Amino acid sequence: MRRKVRTTLCLSSLGEMMFTFVKRRLALILIPVLLAAPAAAAPQENRYHRYAEVRQAVLDAAASYPVIARAAGIGRSVEGRELSILKLSKDVGVDHRRPEVLINCNQHANEHLTAEECLHLIRRYTTGYGTDPVVTEALDTRVVWIIPMVNPDGAEYDYTSLTPGTWRKNRNGLGVDLNRNWSYQWGCCGGSSPLPIAGDYRGPSPFSEPEIRAVRDFVNSRVVDGKQRITASIDIHTFSELVMWPWGYTKDDVTPARDAEVFQALGSRMAATNGYTPQQSSDLYISDGTMIDWLWATHRIWAMGMEMYPKGDIGGGLAGAFYPPASVIDRETTRNDRAVDLVVSYADCVPRVIGLGC
Ligand SMILES: [Zn+2]
Repeated sequence: MRRKVRTTLCLSSLGEMMFTFVKRRLALILIPVLLAAPAAAAPQENRYHRYAEVRQAVLDAAASYPVIARAAGIGRSVEGRELSILKLSKDVGVDHRRPEVLINCNQHANEHLTAEECLHLIRRYTTGYGTDPVVTEALDTRVVWIIPMVNPDGAEYDYTSLTPGTWRKNRNGLGVDLNRNWSYQWGCCGGSSPLPIAGDYRGPSPFSEPEIRAVRDFVNSRVVDGKQRITASIDIHTFSELVMWPWGYTKDDVTPARDAEVFQALGSRMAATNGYTPQQSSDLYISDGTMIDWLWATHRIWAMGMEMYPKGDIGGGLAGAFYPPASVIDRETTRNDRAVDLVVSYADCVPRVIGLGC
């Protein structure tokens, strides 16, 4: 922020102002350093992380836990930021043909709590392996892929804007809503906008955006010997406290009815653990060209969506809801552990959730 300074100043007040200015600059530099020092050492921090820190956390996890964690880049954003992914599994460099789960965060720029959710999961899986039996079982029998920030340009822009919490899209021109840029039923049904100025602008064509092409190509690359290894996924958003499943583009259920029952059962089980509301994505509103619709339609991945805290208005309008106080981060990320565990544990055969085989 800038303040206007009076243009007529006598010399002494100018000197005084300079002194005050220097003191203020020092305070601005020193106070964050002093405050940051103890927090940086803590295993879990109630603070938001910028893109560079998120990327570093992925690299650090791989460097510190080389047996269970491997870092890679899957592509670059419009502004050239690398899109990081972390692979988590026992003997991570060996192909054990384990069922795979994809968890991705921050498709929408202003949903900062979601990047913290993915960072929390990275910490939980790395520090918990060998001590937490659920985590250990998960990485012994599954591969978990985590993409903590699908939209780093938008997230950085939102962090540094005058109105943090209000920028949703990527940074291509006027911005594209990345979760309306997937090809399945793109722009079909009034669940996105053709207007670049709109918050839910779908882009000029399906997969026009490099961030979404990168995630698409990664998912396609997991088809090995003609079989998609990823069996289940969670696309994490804020806010409303919901667990969701396809379709987004229509009020119709997925078919056959058996598959709709599986989605409903898994969603309800997940929601029972974190107190969210389970519902089909289109029950919130119609959205077309979304990730979960594409994952299900194209790869038959049991694709769940989550909308995190808060449930509704917490003051401060939309910006407040999209950028809640950092003090809630630990509580609201840990809150979803059991829901994530359910998806990972059923990844060998998701229809097992209603007693069916695969
Ligand atoms: Zn979102």
